[in-house]
Amino acid sequence: MSQAKDLKQKLFNKFENGYQAMSEQALDACNAYAKGYIDFLDKNRTERECAVFAEKVLRANGFEPVDEHRTKPYQAGDKIYKIQRNKAVIAAVIGKKALAEGVKIAAAHVDSPRLDLKPNPLYESENMAFFKTHYYGGIKKYQWTAIPLSLHGVICKAGGEKLTVNIGDDPADPQFVVTDLLPHLATEQMKREARQIVKAEELNLLIGSVPFKDDEESELVKLNILNLLFKKYGICERDFLSAELCAIPAFPVREIGFDRSFIGGYGHDDKVCAYPALTALLECGVPENTCLAVWVDKEEIGSEGNTGMKCDFLRYFIADLARTVGLQGRDVIRNCSCISADVNAGFDPTFADVVDKYNCAYVNKGVCLTKYTSAGGKSGSNDASAEFIAYLRGIYDKAGVLWQIGELGKTDLGGGGTVAKYVANLDIETVDLGVPVLSMHAPFEIIGKVDLYNAHLAFKEYFKA
Ligand code: MN
Ligand code: MN
Repeated sequence: MSQAKDLKQKLFNKFENGYQAMSEQALDACNAYAKGYIDFLDKNRTERECAVFAEKVLRANGFEPVDEHRTKPYQAGDKIYKIQRNKAVIAAVIGKKALAEGVKIAAAHVDSPRLDLKPNPLYESENMAFFKTHYYGGIKKYQWTAIPLSLHGVICKAGGEKLTVNIGDDPADPQFVVTDLLPHLATEQMKREARQIVKAEELNLLIGSVPFKDDEESELVKLNILNLLFKKYGICERDFLSAELCAIPAFPVREIGFDRSFIGGYGHDDKVCAYPALTALLECGVPENTCLAVWVDKEEIGSEGNTGMKCDFLRYFIADLARTVGLQGRDVIRNCSCISADVNAGFDPTFADVVDKYNCAYVNKGVCLTKYTSAGGKSGSNDASAEFIAYLRGIYDKAGVLWQIGELGKTDLGGGGTVAKYVANLDIETVDLGVPVLSMHAPFEIIGKVDLYNAHLAFKEYFKA
């Protein structure tokens, strides 16, 4: 070996491609793990569906609902969970060490961009019926036209009855679509700026065209739709006022590429981190520190509301645990640490300009650690401490977790937010770590299997350490 080669080996930093760096055995495990994730992502597309899934899995694995008024200490190995208002989840495995030594948290979000229905959505125009939508999260609106959409959510009736809706995923179901203009007649549309090529008020969901059989009345297509809904759900138009329904991409989750190294699907952001956080917790055995997997809602609109990370329910959960051993919440919280498990932008050679190629996340080079997320002068960002990053580095390098480090785009471009800063605000050491995504926030996002699997390993090793 030449002296330079030798020195390079010793001194240069390198991030390796998983397909070269990982053993055949590890790659087999990676492919097997991906199958479970594909099934999960296919069947759980909204935060409510994720919460139902989590509760089922947690129950099956011996987790019990937390008793918030408990005063007796839990034992090492006890498993508890809380479902926060049907949309967020905290699952905990009690560790061997005293709670005062802190809790380890992996926190991801399970909401994804989509088209919510407006409170009064249904209208008829020229013998066609539509739902008005109000988009949720950051989307390129033009991407949401001319693709199959399914309808998910709940309708809460004034009497307290709650109906769950899921139409469009079963092959026997009808689907829905937002129409777009044909190119032949789009000369004027194509002059609009990209943000307005399809305007928010043009995101109208096509839902029917058959008029109710009667010559006398107007709005007979709308009437026919309501009649169908009345027969199926027993609802009338007023019930939409207290419903949460959304149109989401109906594409099945699929392997992508001749070599099947990618997974394409709706809502990788951030279920591609939420799923590994949970599976890691399920496999943590009896950990040293108490470990938490947290799934929150509303990240895509700023972590607002009582199911988002700005809400105190995580703090209360830890404080309730602290009380069982006679401590104040803050006695435990200040010694906690957290991996804010969220996606980063994967490097896309087609759009190479938007990133600093020395500081971005590459698909299949492992799970990506992100010290800070925002653009410009880092304002609005949790800027993770070198101490905490060094701690994780030590764990990952020792355990052979494939990981990389990246920023979200060039310094003065874009940037994004995660739940990290809200956790850090509690006085918790926090850093972002997650899977690089291509076409993020598009109806069909892409991730690499190697990164997914290494996210699982990263959370597992963090819990284990
Ligand atoms: Mn995210
Ligand atoms: Mn997002």
